[in-house]
Amino acid sequence: MSVTVVGSLNEDVLVAVGRLPGRGETVVGREAVLAPGGKGANQAAAAGRLAGGLAGGVDGRADGAVDVVMVGRVGDDPAGERQVAALAGAGVDTTLVLRTPDRPTGSATIPVEDGSGENLIVVVPGANAALAPADVDVAAVRRAAVVLLQLEVPLATVRAAADAASGTVVLTPAPPQPLPPELLRRVAVLVPNEHELVQLAGADHGPRSPAQLAGLARGLGAAATVVTLGARGALVVPGDGPVLLQGPPPVEAVDTTGAGDCFTGALGGALARGCDLAGAVREAVAAAALSTTGPGARGALPDAAAVRELLP
Ligand code: ATP
Repeated sequence: MSVTVVGSLNEDVLVAVGRLPGRGETVVGREAVLAPGGKGANQAAAAGRLAGGLAGGVDGRADGAVDVVMVGRVGDDPAGERQVAALAGAGVDTTLVLRTPDRPTGSATIPVEDGSGENLIVVVPGANAALAPADVDVAAVRRAAVVLLQLEVPLATVRAAADAASGTVVLTPAPPQPLPPELLRRVAVLVPNEHELVQLAGADHGPRSPAQLAGLARGLGAAATVVTLGARGALVVPGDGPVLLQGPPPVEAVDTTGAGDCFTGALGGALARGCDLAGAVREAVAAAALSTTGPGARGALPDAAAVRELLP
């Protein structure tokens, strides 16, 4: 069984600042820390970490091993080497991560304000923007039980991957942009956060009940939607049937960066092992909660044993 991720790899440059700069203003940062990032690579790292170590993954079944494969592009530069090494270290197969001679590895520069934790993010897509439909290894996508897609690579490439997939297509609609109905029809599970759902549905921002969120989700055209709700957990909205709100286990959250990517990586792994959607969301909510207990997008990615301990 395999999970194939088609998406972005970035190098995050985290800069600690006393105060975020205003327009036209210069502030002096305290330190800059490099960290592996990119929505695609973060999801792959989460799935890889959960699949490794404990035989059979979270449910410990002997036949439950999941291979995680990353399809993407980095520059032919040291930052690209660092991203590939970080993914390989998480147990991800990186043989389909291509080097791009004329573009730098994608980056995200993120000043983070001391105390408040508020940030600004400037993304330079670099090599991610060069990931073309022809780069999508059709065999790797076709044999995958689950294909994880996001929107940090060109939409044409996302569509090509969705079209090539024969397994379950999971799409994170981030950063949000209008999505063609033909793409949404190929999506088995759409995983927006609340903000992305409201934006995709063309609705006004404001507080909504689970039933109202489910109404927006059902209008989008994917077979099922899972709306992530931060500290409230996740809302499972099947095409028909009852809506389910899965709350997180109690954890001491210190940094929620990348919780959404951990959630989706865990969801993909569980679906690949044959869990139904509600069971996969239960695992994903537990994994994402654990990921908030350490710093950065990949600082506290849990392994299967840790998730298993949290599940009843
Ligand atoms: P990010 O962009 O930071 O990756 P996101 O906005 O895409 O996150 P969220 O809805 O904030 O996604 O979080 C994803 C999942 O992580 C939630 O559905 C929930 O399961 C878990 N989570 C997030 N914050 C917390 C928290 N404070 N405590 C426990 N679980 C959390």
